[in-house]
Amino acid sequence: MIIEKNCYEILTALENAGFSAYLVGGCVRDALMGLPFHDYDITTNALPQQIMEVFADYRVIPTGIKHGTVTVLCNDDPFEITTFRIDGEYSDSRHPENVTFTANLRDDLARRDFTVNAIAMDLRGEIFDPFEGESDIKKGIIRCVGNPVERFTEDALRILRGVRFASVLGFELEADTANAIHQLKNRLDNISAERISVELMKLICGKNCVQILLEYRDIIGQIIPELIPAFDHEQHSPYHKYDVYEHIVRAVNAVPLEHSKADLLRLTMLLHDVSKPACYILDEKGRGHFKGHAQVGAGSARDILKRLKFDNKTIDTVHELIYLHSDKISTEKQIKRLVGKIGLEHFLLLMEVKKADNSAKHSFVLKELKEYDKLAETARRLAEEQACMSVSDLAINGRDLLEIGLNGREIGDCLNEMLERVIDEQLENSREKLLAFAQEMKK
Ligand code: ATP
Ligand code: MG
Repeated sequence: MIIEKNCYEILTALENAGFSAYLVGGCVRDALMGLPFHDYDITTNALPQQIMEVFADYRVIPTGIKHGTVTVLCNDDPFEITTFRIDGEYSDSRHPENVTFTANLRDDLARRDFTVNAIAMDLRGEIFDPFEGESDIKKGIIRCVGNPVERFTEDALRILRGVRFASVLGFELEADTANAIHQLKNRLDNISAERISVELMKLICGKNCVQILLEYRDIIGQIIPELIPAFDHEQHSPYHKYDVYEHIVRAVNAVPLEHSKADLLRLTMLLHDVSKPACYILDEKGRGHFKGHAQVGAGSARDILKRLKFDNKTIDTVHELIYLHSDKISTEKQIKRLVGKIGLEHFLLLMEVKKADNSAKHSFVLKELKEYDKLAETARRLAEEQACMSVSDLAINGRDLLEIGLNGREIGDCLNEMLERVIDEQLENSREKLLAFAQEMKK
């Protein structure tokens, strides 16, 4: 692993002051796997006060002094430095009552959640790995440090972190760790919504999310009980080869991770059919129907995302995409109306939703995927040509109508009527023609 210059400087400064200092956690794990990593976590036997002294000439932020964490900025690069510590008793399934500092690196590694996250490395690349995390990385295994039941009881967030790492890294959970996860899942109820959503988002954006979402669906059901009715719910539809939940999972996975809004789209897919079971009817021919599931599901998704404390913009977008996800769109006029209503950006997202949805059905439906690319292309072209798609694109505005003597309510109606006609190509979008039409309407 090549330690980047600023990080090297930090580790060296600690060693030169007579302390030991190690990289630990995600960066060591990811580096050993040959993956890029985003931040360096440093652990040291220096006490917080001593860390502040070593870095007296640097900008230092006392991030969590009580827990021994200080952030040091080296050429604007932030480094979290934490004193070796042992966590005290846990009473709330999440936070230790108190922490004690220790001079022993092994003790610090023992408090960490998984063996793959409990590997330390010094600036010479020397590895300290008392829990055999490197061997678990090679085997592709997530295993608790110590007794899984105890570790998940101490801090239930680890349950979600465990499945998240398995999804992101493409690892399996070791049997005792997996059993404890299933056994202790209801402890997740003690974890804050914010922490749950962060882990959930990472989980659904993992390369192994299909396997994890299927194998640990009880964990998903614990945080989103609204999805439980979808488990094993047969669709009895010629288009579908999976039950509702497996269709959902495969649709999540069908969103390419390279898409700039992959996380938003995957979240949408996770909830897009949440109300299918509630809207299910089996007709006399033995065929399943889910009338209204998109609209009902949009409302349900809104409630779920509010509870999980997502921001309003995300909630509104997911709501809109789910609401519209099963509407048929094919003609240019339909495209114009929809782009006029939701904007080009959301229209393009909707096409991605439809593609992901259809990718998770019978393979004969796959031929529709190209259609959505064509619709997206048409929408882009129309936007580029500045085609008239909304009231604001009309060649006249409300003020013009006020001048010819229409009142507030009439103005809105008139503009909408003109837009309909312009899109239907019954009326030319020119000032002259529109004014004439308005005069006519006034009578
Ligand atoms: P990433 O940053 O890629 O999500 P990470 O492993 O670096 O993964 P962080 O949340 O940054 O995760 O935590 C850094 C390290 O702190 C972890 O690798 C682990 O050793 C330890 N850690 C974090 N959260 C917990 C926890 N809830 N219980 C025990 N140890 C934890
Ligand atoms: Mg990290």
